[in-house]
Amino acid sequence: MCGPHVPDFSSASIANMSIPTALTPPRRVLMGPGPSDVDDAVLAAMARPTLGHLDPRFLEVMDEIGSMLRSVFRTENQLTMPMSGTGSAGMETCMVNLLEPGDRVLVGVNGVFGTRMAEVARRCGAEVTEVKGEWGRAFEAEALRAGAEHDRYDLVAVVHAETSTGVLQPIPAVRELADELGALLLIDCVTSLAGHAVEIDGWGVDAAYSGTQKCLSCPPGLAPVTFSERAVEKMKARKTPVQSWYLDLSLIQGYWGEERSYHHTAPINMLYGLHEALRLVLEEGLEARFDRHRRHSKMLCEGLEALGLAARVPEAERLAPLTTIAIPDGVDDAAVRGHLLEHFGLEIGGGLGPMKGNTWRVGLMGAGSTERNVKLCLAALDDAMGRG
Ligand SMILES: *Cc1c(COP(=O)(O)O)cnc(C)c1O
Repeated sequence: MCGPHVPDFSSASIANMSIPTALTPPRRVLMGPGPSDVDDAVLAAMARPTLGHLDPRFLEVMDEIGSMLRSVFRTENQLTMPMSGTGSAGMETCMVNLLEPGDRVLVGVNGVFGTRMAEVARRCGAEVTEVKGEWGRAFEAEALRAGAEHDRYDLVAVVHAETSTGVLQPIPAVRELADELGALLLIDCVTSLAGHAVEIDGWGVDAAYSGTQKCLSCPPGLAPVTFSERAVEKMKARKTPVQSWYLDLSLIQGYWGEERSYHHTAPINMLYGLHEALRLVLEEGLEARFDRHRRHSKMLCEGLEALGLAARVPEAERLAPLTTIAIPDGVDDAAVRGHLLEHFGLEIGGGLGPMKGNTWRVGLMGAGSTERNVKLCLAALDDAMGRG
């Protein structure tokens, strides 16, 4: 028999099913590429009573989230809000709303998320030019320019913080290139938002998306997005409807804007969590938060060096919230990560794509960017390799 396995849904089987016990997940230290550790205050906010999605008190919560998001994105963009869905839903929101079939898109691809951006743009029917770069290095604007196949593009898209490789992409030079090409500029700041400076207005970014589970230290489930006036103009001038009903901003604005009309039920308690997470970010202060991320990343890299381990990315291009480490020859990737989880309750990430099996990814994101976590990780790696 080689057919698909069909579960037994007979009433006898259902009657005999034992009900699982209530969940008590272990408390881990999440130092992978996300999700990152969530502050208890955020978890507590999420446990507060669910309101109706049109309740006047909830509408205030939405307004507060909107204005806090503008502060964190450093923008005055009116169209700034969290989409229901993870970071990839934010990516898809930007692409499906900004692109129409036949539009030209230039994407910098030097990691998993650039690859994903190119794929999503293609699925929108865009003509995509992928400029391939070395994994583990940032793009020089010259290299992106040299990869352009046309004089004019509708959109240039790059990943600001490439979580698969640990690289920070400088944006101002990419903005200049987008201007030369007559294009809007889209950036992925899933891992940079609230961990590195993100200057949406200062850099002239037209569209950006993020996710809640990296440096915002909220559980996964929401994707903050923001759009410039120029991006809004492009959406208004569309000749074709947005291919996705769920992610169509012209419809969603009916709920997040003045009208407050129903589109889909907002994930109320997730939004409570984001509200609290944003409050904590602003209470700490953006500059202080970026400093904290820088300081602990430096501490981690120095400690790694002392253990004979090397960061994969040159210091000037390195992300603060995520460090990629070259796994030494002869060290078993899975065994070390298994040891960390079993003996220290500590999760770090493995590599993706060409970095699978030869790279660890250590996140120091948001609430998880602490001296204590740096020291725990170093001690745990030392212990694991001492036995390896
Ligand atoms: C995590 C991540 C995403 C995808 O977010 P999901 O929440 O996994 O959908 C996109 N881009 C970057 C740079 C990321 O780190």
